[in-house]
Amino acid sequence: MKIIISLDYEIFFKKNDIDSNNQLIKNTNKLITLLEKNNIKSTFFVDAGYLHALDRQRYRYTNLKDDYLNIIYQIMQLEKSNNEIGLHIHPHWEDTYFINGNWEMKLDRYKLSDYKQKDVEIIMYKYYNQLKKIVTVPIVSYRAGGWCIEPFSLIKNHLKNIGIKIEATVFKGGYSSTKTHHYDFRGYPKKEFWRFSETPKKEDNNGYFMEIPSTTSYIPNYQYWKIALDKILKINGGDRNGEGIKPGIKEIARRIMLGNTVPVSLDRFKSAVLLKTFKESEKTNNSYFSIIGHPKSIDENSLNDLKNFIEYALGNGHTFTTYSKEFNKIF
Ligand SMILES: [Zn+2]
Repeated sequence: MKIIISLDYEIFFKKNDIDSNNQLIKNTNKLITLLEKNNIKSTFFVDAGYLHALDRQRYRYTNLKDDYLNIIYQIMQLEKSNNEIGLHIHPHWEDTYFINGNWEMKLDRYKLSDYKQKDVEIIMYKYYNQLKKIVTVPIVSYRAGGWCIEPFSLIKNHLKNIGIKIEATVFKGGYSSTKTHHYDFRGYPKKEFWRFSETPKKEDNNGYFMEIPSTTSYIPNYQYWKIALDKILKINGGDRNGEGIKPGIKEIARRIMLGNTVPVSLDRFKSAVLLKTFKESEKTNNSYFSIIGHPKSIDENSLNDLKNFIEYALGNGHTFTTYSKEFNKIF
């Protein structure tokens, strides 16, 4: 199989977390060290809204100026070492400001569909240019913040105008409906990749865009019991959710009852099923295995799980690629 690793490069959503930026940089370095050792390139979906927010306030706060420069430097290094840089958009940065030494995260308008069409266009324009300023190779791939890709009509024309052809948000069977998130991938094409024009929900063989969904794994309900228990007993403390937003009582109840379908992930506690899911995939006819991750959510266990996974994959004749390397040529 060809393996694609993609990493959503962004900070936590919680308040009072001044060290988020340094954590992101440190964790990314740890990941890159491991990947480089095995000559593996990956795709980094950079949260361009974060760049925008840093840029907007960096003249007022020295620490934001440092954060901004460190982030830019790291993205430059990632690109220089031939990793792919993709566009990732979290529009809540529109309402999020650095106040009294902390990011005051406002999530009332979390997804692009919470904004008017005109505002969406401005956000896409501003954020894309923010990223484009520091990247020299064309940006050809996109992932929506929080998997909220629909309605795709909101961003379709803009993506076309800037030459983004690869869409990498969907994961088979994914569903969430909370105060912040909304997506439902249950009726999407059940293929490894497909072309589309109006929405990734509907295949169109002549479509301009290509959807490359993430591979999924199933997290059994007892894992969520364990998280709930850890939280009650305050073991490992803090945020253990990939997106860093508390899912709400209804969603927690659903996960505790039914488990949850999630993208195959390097994030803490999810990385435990990476190798198992890969071995199951080996028994199918699949040609791609697409893994996501958030450097912010990487811990020592994830790194260890990733190390074992790489050893197994390379030892059994599998290869690693990126979205642009693999798919850009077929357009
Ligand atoms: Zn994100």
